[in-house]
Amino acid sequence: MLLRNAVSALALVAAITAPALAAAPKPKPRPAAASELIMLDTHLDTPVNFGRVDWDIMADNSADPFSQVDYPRMVRGGLTGGFFAIYIAQGPLTAEGYAAARDEALMRAVWIREMVARHSDRFALAFAADDAARIAAQHKRVVFQSMENSYPLGEDLTLLRTFYDLGLRLAGPVHFRNNQFADSATDTPRWHGLSPLGKAWVAEANRLGIMIDASHASDDVFDQLLTVSKTPIVLSHSGCKAVFDHPRNLDDGRLRKLAAAGGVIQINSVYLKPRTKLDPATRADQDRVDADKDRLSTLSAAEIGRLKAEQRRIDAKYPPPASFDDFMANLLHALKVAGVDHVGVGADWDGGGGVVGMKDVADLPKINARLRQAGYSEADLRKIWSGNILRVMRQAEANKATAAKAATPAG
Ligand SMILES: [Zn+2]
Repeated sequence: MLLRNAVSALALVAAITAPALAAAPKPKPRPAAASELIMLDTHLDTPVNFGRVDWDIMADNSADPFSQVDYPRMVRGGLTGGFFAIYIAQGPLTAEGYAAARDEALMRAVWIREMVARHSDRFALAFAADDAARIAAQHKRVVFQSMENSYPLGEDLTLLRTFYDLGLRLAGPVHFRNNQFADSATDTPRWHGLSPLGKAWVAEANRLGIMIDASHASDDVFDQLLTVSKTPIVLSHSGCKAVFDHPRNLDDGRLRKLAAAGGVIQINSVYLKPRTKLDPATRADQDRVDADKDRLSTLSAAEIGRLKAEQRRIDAKYPPPASFDDFMANLLHALKVAGVDHVGVGADWDGGGGVVGMKDVADLPKINARLRQAGYSEADLRKIWSGNILRVMRQAEANKATAAKAATPAG
């Protein structure tokens, strides 16, 4: 493990000193057909699997209860790519906690680069909105990077620049618990919105051209982001309160405000129904599996094998509470309230997503069939699957350019 980390750290240094974008050849691909649907999911937790000894993105991992995204299933489901999340579990809000999380997050960014480098004939890193069509035209999968929970930045906002240089283009301030930047939707309010550091985080993300992700943030944070951020807000994986009343979901009033401000909500496949109440023994088993799921990269193949068997046993006893119909109700409600220019998909694959009838990305064509059935056109589908998120990304890029110009002293 040590050796692997040492090698990877060298790769990281090389990555920072020689950005891949500058080094990448600029082939002239054939233009993508107008009918070609670029399908991007804005929250793929797949990098959690990149460090596993028993997992290969080029293999079909359908039988693995911890895997919903791999190359064969992306191809089958038509998923062009998306935002691969750098997610590190939140520890204590201390200098030591921040430093440990920062190192892990940097390693996660390295894993993403290593995966793409290893399979550069199938995947390509994307850094700008225009990269999506260019990479799709080469018939490769599009790998944008995001950060779920900015906890690993600690109180050092210069790290946002470090991650931006590695390719970070979408970041959320907070996760399940309050942190140094903001209140969580699922914690007791501490800051009543963004902290002073959180407001500085927004300004720095705006300046760099990193889109801001309000999924997991409290309603107060959402409201403040709408006024503080110079770029429209993204919710990379969220849902509608009207479908299921849960703090992680957005009410109709806020959906309309988000749309009025030019933002997008990317609909997820969790928080659709109350969680199934497990019997106490199974609950304890599931808690143990969940704790180990965050550190799969540190386990042996035999240990992961035991965890997989345990998870399969629990899943057989307690299937997911929600169905594909519930997911579609969520998506169609958001479309009705926010409008087709402000909704996309971020199903939370490899992070708790999946419903009965749509268990992994191979099932995505079912969504398109239902959308067409509901009267949505091919142009609408293009907006939902990538047009809307890329529009916000272009705005972030334009704001960055304008701010940079304004900051340059005249003469
Ligand atoms: Zn999440």
